[in-house]
Amino acid sequence: MESRLQKSLAGLPLGGIRYLESTGSTNDIALAWAAEGAPDFSIVVADEQTSGRGRLGRKWFTPAGTALAVSVILRPGESERENIAFFSGLGALALVDALKNFGVSAKIKWPNDVLIARRKTAGILVETVWMGLDVESIILGMGVNVSPAAIPPETELNFPATCVQSEARGPVERFDLLHALMVSLVKWRPRVGTESFLREWQDSLAFRNETVQVWLGESETVSGVLEGLEADGSLRLDVSGAKRLIRFGEIHLRPL
Ligand code: ATP
Repeated sequence: MESRLQKSLAGLPLGGIRYLESTGSTNDIALAWAAEGAPDFSIVVADEQTSGRGRLGRKWFTPAGTALAVSVILRPGESERENIAFFSGLGALALVDALKNFGVSAKIKWPNDVLIARRKTAGILVETVWMGLDVESIILGMGVNVSPAAIPPETELNFPATCVQSEARGPVERFDLLHALMVSLVKWRPRVGTESFLREWQDSLAFRNETVQVWLGESETVSGVLEGLEADGSLRLDVSGAKRLIRFGEIHLRPL
């Protein structure tokens, strides 16, 4: 498996590659590797995650042989440090772009999920390592359901789920998808925070011009028409004719 992975990624400007048959969470391995001085654009890939994480400690399921679990270690440059809020968008946008190679049209459920046919297919988890006031590393973790066996039982889901294979034109090999994803990351990373990045991110949003409901905390919700993104990556809703901005944070978004 590992040599197949190396072969699939040959020619990409990666800092290093670590492959694990099974691990708790690729983000945890990446955080530890970053602390040991992993070079920029190193990746950790696992066949199985036994305690993959979503936001706020929620679980992300990655059964063996079914999914892509990858964490990319980024050592941010000066301008990237000022654009940390865009990195979930970078991961999501790169995946949407990569999926086009497989005939799949995906959308981004702001801020951190990728949907196919309005069903969750991938989750993005960005974690940052601070050194004083500076961001030392960004860990861009991505979990993608590739084959149907990756999809968790419905009792575990708070949103309908699907996988790439169910929606693709032909067979999807995980490491081919990983290659396409890394190519897209190389393409989009230098554009993070630029107008073209924001435009593409906005064009890829799920539920655009539809009425959605956003949970802002335990009990506060706001409903409105999903208009698009602000220059800082916040989500803009139209609530009965008034603009309402939703900032990154603990939110859940659903179509109404
Ligand atoms: P929401 O969809 O409510 O906004 P979220 O984006 O906060 O949730 P994440 O933290 O990104 O969710 O992901 C964790 C949640 O995703 C889990 O609680 C579970 O419901 C769901 N989930 C876990 N594994 C998978 C998977 N392989 N495919 C689809 N959904 C999953």
